[in-house]
Amino acid sequence: MEKVTQLDTFRSVSKGVGRFNVQGKRLLIPQMNQFNSQLLAGVFKSFGVNAKAMETYEGLDLGKKYTSGKECFPCIVTLGDILLFMKKERERLGESFNPENYIYFMPDADGPCRFGMYNKFHRIILDSIPGLDKVKISELNSDDAYDLKGLIPKENLIAFRKAGYLSIVVGDILDRLVWRIRPYEKVEGMADTFINEAMERMAESFARHSSEKDLSPITDDLIEVVKEGKNIIDPHVPRKPLIGAVGEIYLRSHVKSNQDTIRTLEKYGAEVVNASIGEWINYTTYDQVRLARIAIGLNLKRFKLKEIKKYLLQYLKYNITLFYQYMQQRKVYQMVRKYIDIAEDHKIGHLEKVLKTKNTFSFEVGTEACLSISSALELSHRGYNGIVNIFPFTCLPSNLTASITKPLMGKLNVPYIDVDYDGSFQPGREAALRTFMYQANQHFKIHGRP
Ligand code: SF4
Repeated sequence: MEKVTQLDTFRSVSKGVGRFNVQGKRLLIPQMNQFNSQLLAGVFKSFGVNAKAMETYEGLDLGKKYTSGKECFPCIVTLGDILLFMKKERERLGESFNPENYIYFMPDADGPCRFGMYNKFHRIILDSIPGLDKVKISELNSDDAYDLKGLIPKENLIAFRKAGYLSIVVGDILDRLVWRIRPYEKVEGMADTFINEAMERMAESFARHSSEKDLSPITDDLIEVVKEGKNIIDPHVPRKPLIGAVGEIYLRSHVKSNQDTIRTLEKYGAEVVNASIGEWINYTTYDQVRLARIAIGLNLKRFKLKEIKKYLLQYLKYNITLFYQYMQQRKVYQMVRKYIDIAEDHKIGHLEKVLKTKNTFSFEVGTEACLSISSALELSHRGYNGIVNIFPFTCLPSNLTASITKPLMGKLNVPYIDVDYDGSFQPGREAALRTFMYQANQHFKIHGRP
């Protein structure tokens, strides 16, 4: 057997992880929240890419087999997803299995935490399994607000980005719809059955219309879904305490990894609104605007004209993107809110102001901590009856969030709980959430809800 050197590993990471053209390949998308990956697969299909949202969490044992336990939990879950998928494909196709036909889609973030290393780590593990070194990993990076250059043909970039962003907003709205109707459903189980069918309809709609110039057939389908969903609410059930969920994006969105925290809270009388995926996408764009603005200021002081021009162009580019995203998001939320009062999303600039008001934390630190801390404050000021911080055990930004937010919530007299997950089942978890809901109920009785 050939000896694998450190140099081979570096070469493989630089060559086997990148922006590969996904046309003609089977593009494998890991699931984060239950809707977004399915809808995104629909968008890719519309542009002629054979995309698939992989099943998730079933491969956790495989993920654990190739990790030491020190890795972030989402890294282990997603590793298990790709390994199990490949194992099943190999069994299904036998001799005709060709790993070169697949591209694994794993975006990353430009630090400072470990998300930026998932795809590199997955590369090393895939390389260690015979044949799987041929499976390419396609990355997108928060460093350029998830620009899709290199993945799909240049002429489709703008149209794809528009439909891709719409799929994120629609996924968020489907989530908010189910959290709005499930605590008030006429018959137990109705909301879940409905939303699973609705997700398939919307994925189909994206697969059919994403590459068209006019995306209104997709929003028309969404409105139909929302109208039907509203009928599931029993108008006789009184409104319940409103809980805001913040935390690490994967864990708070991945129902299996967080052991369905929202459903447990609902069991004890909550209506929950979780932070959206759109928030993270808008944040990465907002952060590029912020960084370009800082760079312009610094270069103005040094009178570096070439650099000023470069950052000015970046500033304009990301500002236009951010403007488009906000406009699109607001438009779709407004359409939907004519029929049902789902929670709106906040602007990132507003969250930064929330932190600056009392110098609580800084966007300079980056990571999701700046979003989670500011969102927790914002929701508390709006009158939410409790805040839940959902995150992976050992997550750096989330522990930062926990240490800052807990005392702040204490001062504001808003019930607060940290819930961290690593795949094991903690016997006291449900009791802790039930106690939290008791406190939230007391808050609700005294202050009402927003
Ligand atoms: S946010 Fe937390 S879980 Fe995610 S990569 Fe960073 S440290 Fe790991």
